[in-house]
Amino acid sequence: MKTLVVFKLLKNMVSKPMTVKFPSESIPIPEKYRGEQVWDSAKCTSCGLCSKICPNRAIEMVEAPPEYKENYAKRYPMIDLGKCCFCGLCQDICPTGSLTMSKNFFLSTFDPSTTINIPFPKRVELKAE
Ligand code: SF4
Ligand code: SF4
Repeated sequence: MKTLVVFKLLKNMVSKPMTVKFPSESIPIPEKYRGEQVWDSAKCTSCGLCSKICPNRAIEMVEAPPEYKENYAKRYPMIDLGKCCFCGLCQDICPTGSLTMSKNFFLSTFDPSTTINIPFPKRVELKAE
């Protein structure tokens, strides 16, 4: 028994570790990984299906601010990532491909108010580039 323990100890000392030194090193993210949702305002029809199917009630359809109404859908899905379980049902049901799951998993926060994903004005700036 003792010999076996010593053998395993020596083996582990020379073998490659299973973990990586994150964040300086990272493992590839799988192709179908489900991270933070990305919303494409140009494709959204405000149908609300994503909100209806969400099992965690993480999506609320809200009015776009008046200054963005010309370029954005009437109502857009506001997602609370604090409630989201990343099941991907909202992406699956979206008829226009407006809502897709990205590979972004850097979502930890100490401030619960930052978990609500409001695309204004961040994505307006991105669209203008
Ligand atoms: S991934 Fe699932 S839990 Fe998260 S917002 Fe979409 S439907 Fe809701
Ligand atoms: S299901 Fe798609 S098109 Fe419909 S409101 Fe949600 S994001 Fe917009």
